[in-house]
Amino acid sequence: MPTYRPAPVEFVSGEGCRLTDANGKTYLDFLSGIAVTSLGHSHPAVRDAVSAQLGRLLHVSNLFHSGLNEEVAGTIDLLIGDGQPAEGKVFFTNSGAESNECAIKLARRYGGPGRHVVVSAYGSFHGRTLATLHATGQPTKHEHFAPMPEGFRHVEYGDIQALDRALDASVVTAVLLECIEGEGGVIPAPPGYLGAVRKLCDERNILMMLDEVQTGLGRTGRWFAFQHEQIKPDVVTLAKALGNGMPVGACWARAEVASAFAPGDHGTTYGGQPLAMSAVRATLKTMMEIDAPRLAREQGAYLRRLAEAIPGVSSVRGAGLLLGVVLDEGIDATKVVDEALERGLVLNSPAPGVIRLAPPLIVTPAECSEAAAIMELSIEAVQAAASSREGVGS
Ligand SMILES: *Cc1c(COP(=O)(O)O)cnc(C)c1O
Repeated sequence: MPTYRPAPVEFVSGEGCRLTDANGKTYLDFLSGIAVTSLGHSHPAVRDAVSAQLGRLLHVSNLFHSGLNEEVAGTIDLLIGDGQPAEGKVFFTNSGAESNECAIKLARRYGGPGRHVVVSAYGSFHGRTLATLHATGQPTKHEHFAPMPEGFRHVEYGDIQALDRALDASVVTAVLLECIEGEGGVIPAPPGYLGAVRKLCDERNILMMLDEVQTGLGRTGRWFAFQHEQIKPDVVTLAKALGNGMPVGACWARAEVASAFAPGDHGTTYGGQPLAMSAVRATLKTMMEIDAPRLAREQGAYLRRLAEAIPGVSSVRGAGLLLGVVLDEGIDATKVVDEALERGLVLNSPAPGVIRLAPPLIVTPAECSEAAAIMELSIEAVQAAASSREGVGS
């Protein structure tokens, strides 16, 4: 169905930070399938784990105990606690949207009758199902799909007074926020905002739910972006990097919150199935071995400096290896993305005037320099084309 406008390039293989298209041309991948392949393409540990699982057992359903899932849930819990058990519970899903659906249903169950409203931010992105689409604070994405499900409110991102006004504890059960709005254009929350949100939620017995689908698992330089601020959320949703490309997601909640669910309240046929979970176990084990957050911090700092020095770049925002490169007024980011693809660099533009950099966390300094050089040429080419058009008009 015509839901995308795909670029005319077909990738047929990948290794590390490189992709190869059907004509044998290679590309540097600074998109990672939208912040998914954090360990790079065809990582041997993930490949071997999935291959071994493929030959053993593919699927049995959630009607039976799984030691693998308990182990992986324990690892996620440990990462959420930054090395200490966070004492939470995990529900496994197949995607980011499903992880957020789980969080929204859990919040309604926890809130009880009448307390069902979830407050999220303008510019956010939480998924494409009807509920997560309404949580997504981008009214233009809603307009053709009305009526939206009831029970969602939006506030300006980063405005604590607006949130204060919206948090009527008689109807609101939870806040759902990203620590950095990824799809919205890589917009970080202002310093102190998340701490102030935590305080409001505590005062009013409202759940603080963080969507770390894009920011989680080392990408911003900590295991989770909320760990940059000294706060503890009640619910955290995950997906994207969790399986390094296998479709899988997770919703973590504090044990007391998770216990609002009883058997039968929520479910999934595929979520947490063995093939996906074998990928998650290998992905998380490898990320811990290589200290993925440290790699993101170090390469992120280097990449940011390189990007800031490119003519035509007005600023760079974000954290670790999730960076938003803001172009000077008048430079069309989608044209820069097209030019870069021609020159063998995969990028994307999540919002007008912004290019997102989200390379695998294993990216090397040499690959960062190469990408920055291609970006510089691509921006130059777009500016040259724009000024020659102006020349023709005058
Ligand atoms: C990508 C994304 C989602 C949706 O994930 P899907 O797997 O596409 O359903 C939700 N929240 C955030 C923050 C995302 O970046």
